[in-house]
Amino acid sequence: MTEKTETRPRVENPDAVVEQALRDYGEHVNDAMARLYRFMGFTTLEWEARGAVITDIYGREFIDCGSYGVMFHGHSHPRVVAAVREQLDRMAMHGRTLPHKPIADLGRLLASIAPGDLQYCFFCNSGAEANEAALKLARAYTKRPGFVAATGAFHGKTFGALSVSGRELYREPFYPLLPGVTHVPFGDLEAMEKAIGPDTAAVILEPIQGEGGVIVPPDDYLPGVRRLCDERGALLILDEVQTGMGRTGRWWASEHWGVVPDILTTAKALGGGVMPIGAVVAKAPIWDLFNANPYIHSSTFGGNPLACRAAIAAIEAIQEEGLLEQAAAKGEYLLSRLRALRDRYPQVLRDVRGKGLLIGLELTKDGHAGVLISELIDRGVIVIHSLNNPRVIRVSPPAVITYEQLDRVLAALEAGIARAAEVDADIE
Ligand code: PLP
Repeated sequence: MTEKTETRPRVENPDAVVEQALRDYGEHVNDAMARLYRFMGFTTLEWEARGAVITDIYGREFIDCGSYGVMFHGHSHPRVVAAVREQLDRMAMHGRTLPHKPIADLGRLLASIAPGDLQYCFFCNSGAEANEAALKLARAYTKRPGFVAATGAFHGKTFGALSVSGRELYREPFYPLLPGVTHVPFGDLEAMEKAIGPDTAAVILEPIQGEGGVIVPPDDYLPGVRRLCDERGALLILDEVQTGMGRTGRWWASEHWGVVPDILTTAKALGGGVMPIGAVVAKAPIWDLFNANPYIHSSTFGGNPLACRAAIAAIEAIQEEGLLEQAAAKGEYLLSRLRALRDRYPQVLRDVRGKGLLIGLELTKDGHAGVLISELIDRGVIVIHSLNNPRVIRVSPPAVITYEQLDRVLAALEAGIARAAEVDADIE
């Protein structure tokens, strides 16, 4: 980690605090993870964060291009924090017997930015939960059992979401999963055509696969899947948990192809980087069962006032601060410079792709990812690996990142890639 401008430790004796935390983490949270932190040299603790910058317990700063796509607004966005604080002082959790205003306000607002005629919202606490609700809705509405999903897909790790996810590593220990799920290669319309049958309740897809390694489908893919679903009476669920809420420079990535799903799921950036919240949004007829029996699917904490206030402020911030436009412009800036790097270092970078601020760097070898991530940490930049594709690291900074910060990220990436090329040359 580089020495940064301000390196005032945030506590007395930070080494002891870090050591104790890593020991407790290893003994009571996850031993392998604690060992990995030590192995990667991450013997520190994140301590505070504003905008694009995380500061650790030693006062060292890191530009955050990771955070699994949650931080579209940047850390501690003042508008979101203020809304949550105001609600916290008044009433943090809902009583659940009387109605409350934030959930109704958020429902209206989310429906207003959702694609097409999507109208009804169910609020939960995570992306996986949102997908669970979407799968249940599809079965109940179509009265069909099956689902078609894509290999490499990531929809979460609860049983239903895992069943439609596409990496065996995360599925195999938990068999049997939900029956009736068919996986087809992402982007392959012919395979999709063969897979959708009379038993298919829904096709579930990410418009751009995130954890699969930032895979952008061919332009005719999503419109083609939409058409096939319509022809065969299956619903289209688009999982915009990672791609939604502005990440790709539009509210929803599906807008790049003009495709309106029957059911859309969102989470991550929906809470403005301050509160966890997920949501399912669907067309009115699909909601019949939920409307007939509102207790058929529920969540104690789903739609709580704190989370709803955060989401309302998050949507308003995107609207009023032009964050979609910023994500699109900054994404172009990054992509063009990263493509130039790919041309200079083809031995390390196989491909650079993405939309807006969801950018994937495909490396030529699995081993490069670890080297690059830790080289970047040393240079004060955080990027992330992809859960379903070890060769792709993701660069997903917040829309509020400055161009000066982007240039620092690019300089660190260039130095890190040059280092990975050297390590490679040493090995060969
Ligand atoms: N769907 C997509 C596309 C995701 O990227 C993720 C998380 O990375 C999920 C669902 C699961 O979300 P959560 O971890 O909030 O359950």
